[in-house]
Formats: sequence, C-alpha cells, structure tokens
Amino acid sequence: MLSGYHRLKLLYWDSINPNPMNKSDNSRRNFLKLTAAGLAGAALIKSETAQAASFKKADVIYRTLGRTGVKLPIVSMGAMRGDTKALIEAGIKRGIVHFDTAHVYQKGKNEEMLGEIFQNYDRNQFFIATKVVPDDMDRKTGEIGSGFTVEKFMEYLDTSLKRLQMDQVDLLYAHAVSSGKAVLHPELIKALKLAKEQGKCKFLGVSTHKNEPEVIKAAVEAGIYDVVLTAYNFKQDHRDELTQTIADAAAKGIGFVAMKTMAGGFLDEEHTKPVNTKAALKWALQNENICTAIPGFTAFEHLDESFSVMEKLKMSKQEEKDLEFAREYAGLYCNQCSVCAGQCKKGLPIPEIMRSYMYTYGYRDMNQAKTLLADMGVKNDPCSDCDSCTVSCVKNFAVADKIKKVSRLVDVPDEFIS
Ligand code: SF4
Ligand code: SF4
Repeated sequence: MLSGYHRLKLLYWDSINPNPMNKSDNSRRNFLKLTAAGLAGAALIKSETAQAASFKKADVIYRTLGRTGVKLPIVSMGAMRGDTKALIEAGIKRGIVHFDTAHVYQKGKNEEMLGEIFQNYDRNQFFIATKVVPDDMDRKTGEIGSGFTVEKFMEYLDTSLKRLQMDQVDLLYAHAVSSGKAVLHPELIKALKLAKEQGKCKFLGVSTHKNEPEVIKAAVEAGIYDVVLTAYNFKQDHRDELTQTIADAAAKGIGFVAMKTMAGGFLDEEHTKPVNTKAALKWALQNENICTAIPGFTAFEHLDESFSVMEKLKMSKQEEKDLEFAREYAGLYCNQCSVCAGQCKKGLPIPEIMRSYMYTYGYRDMNQAKTLLADMGVKNDPCSDCDSCTVSCVKNFAVADKIKKVSRLVDVPDEFIS
C-alpha cells in the first residue's frame, strides 16, 4: 500500500508533468487523498492544523494549463501580499501547489521568502512562477524602448533565481506588459527563449493588467508564450470581449491564469463594503478556459474562504446579487480601460495612478502602490497647480481627488511601508 507521501507524489507528478496523452481538462479528482491523507502522511509539512483538517472533504477541481500539459488545482496563490511565511505555509498545507511571485514584489523580499520556505519542501512538488518586468518599457504606451537588453533581462532573472534558491522556475513571465508590440518585441523574445534554452524556466508566459485582448492576441501570434496571466474579473467593462479572446487563444493552446479576480477587494476606502470575494473568485473560475487563479491572500480566513470555492463553483442567488451590486458600484477598481489616457493636461498616467490607488485603498498594499508611482515618476500632489480637471472617467471617478490622496505615498519613507 502506498504511503501518503507516495500517493501525493504520484498524483502530483501526474498533474505537473507535461504529457500529451493525459489532457483531460477540468477533471475532478478526489483531493481527499492528496490534501488530507496525502499531506498528513507525507511529512511534507511540519504539522497539520485544525483549519487544514477542515478541507478533508474537499473535492478539488483540476484544470490543464494549456499546452504546458500541467494540471493545477483551480486555486493557487499570489504571494505578492503574503508577507509572512506562516501564510504561505498555510497555503501549502491546504494543498496549493502553484505559487506566483515576481522580481519586483517587496523589492525582492517576496522571492527571498519563498526561497527560504521551499528549502523545507520537495521543490518538485510545487509549480513556481516568477516575473521580470522588461527594462525601458513605457508604462503609458506599453512599448519597449531601445534601452531593453537581453543581458539586463537575464541579470534580473538570475537575481530572482538566486533569491528563490532555485536553478529553475516552472514558469517565467514577461511582467506587466500592456501592448502587442511589447509582446512581440524581438529582443524580449530573444531573452525569453534564451532563459528557456539555458534551463532557467520550463515554460514562458506574459502577464498583463491592461489592454488584455491585444496582449493575448499578440501572445498567440508570437508562438513562444505558453501562458498568459491576465487581470480577469466580474467588474471589467470589457469582460465579454476578454472572455471571447481568452476562448480563442485557449483553443490555440495558451494556458490562462487569472489575477485581480477580487476587483480591488473593497468598494470603499474605509473597507465597510467588501466585495464578496468568494463569489468573485467563482465568477472568474466559472470560465473553464481559466486554469487557475492566484488570489493574493493576506489572512488565514481568505485562504479558507477561497479554498471552499474548490468544492462548488456554482453561485448562490445571494452571491449573484452581491456581484451585481458590486458591479454597479464604482468602487475602487479602475478598469484599466485607458479611455482617459491622454486627457490630463499635464500628461499624468491616470490608469497607472488609479491602479496605485486601488493597491492602496483596496488591497492596502502601499509597497506595490509606491513602486508603481515611482516607476511613473509621479510626484506628491501633482494636480496642485491645475485649475480644472479635464479627465473624464467611464466610472465617474473623481480622478483629481484620488490622485491627491494616493500621491502622498511618494513622500513616505520606505521604512514605514515595507
Ligand atoms: S486636475 Fe490633475 S488629473 Fe486633472 S487635468 Fe489637472 S493635472 Fe491632470
Ligand atoms: S480611470 Fe476610469 S477611464 Fe481611466 S482607465 Fe480607469 S476606469 Fe478607465
């Protein structure tokens, strides 16, 4: 009889090893063996908690990540805001196998934290993704300039691998790409191919928060990308177009991972109106072309809540109503639709500042917000000498007010934030 450890290992290898003979999508597996008996018997984890034990009956849905052939549970973990080891380890205990980080998260500390954690586990049992932002990428136009070099990109990747204490990541993304031109940029393609040839990653991908349909179409055209990590949620005004583009690309073998599924997490700055995050996650995962989602957990109860989605994706009437309410409420989430781009008299990058605003007031992630503001060269109170605002937002955001609030971050010393 197989021990828990060996059952786990067999199931895991079956799920992550690319095997063209084994492509049954959306297969439901009895995860009881994997998470409970498997993990408990595995000595994979140091101790089992009462909370983890509550998932013993979970019947987890697995999906295949496009042409990679890798099968993953539909809930994974965005490590960006999981700044404590305990939270990441709690995710591992609950059976999460895919962890997503990036070179820029927490100025490298996020990768370092994951690197330390995975020293205590069998690396082969996890699917780790990291991301590198291409140098000299204009956040406003999304285009990559002449300052991009293959060498610099590889240097960032090497730093990431060192922090992660790994020779190879499973998935390497070109990060935060927002134009088709950038996706197809010959030097970026050269760098990504080189990373794969050198065995520094198994698969290649591109991540996008903006102009997602254009980026996805270019990823198909480029032919080198296996996966797209895309913003995808119930509040996006262009969700129908995006859903169709995802379907078209999935038919051509692209695997999809969803982010920003919580659409900001809250509808108000005071956090009195939370988005029904379980319903929001269900909405994204009801699209069977989405292999897995990477919610950014910050608390143990978020993990439990999201994991419960694994058992049942069907929405209750109340959940449908909650999403309908949240959809109509302007809230904190900027669509990144770029309709306002170019409207500011002073040329401010409004969509990016609004994304920083969402990171700050929705996710309470000041670090990420400040980094984005700094990248964009935004100063404190940049609207102070402007007599009237010419920016019109499709969600009727009072853009100038939000800029005034969030731009204060740029003068806050890092030691108070990170
Ligand atoms: S108020 Fe601010 S956002 Fe509006 S036009 Fe002036 S500088 Fe631009
Ligand atoms: S601020 Fe408004 S118009 Fe501009 S990108 Fe965001 S949602 Fe679109």
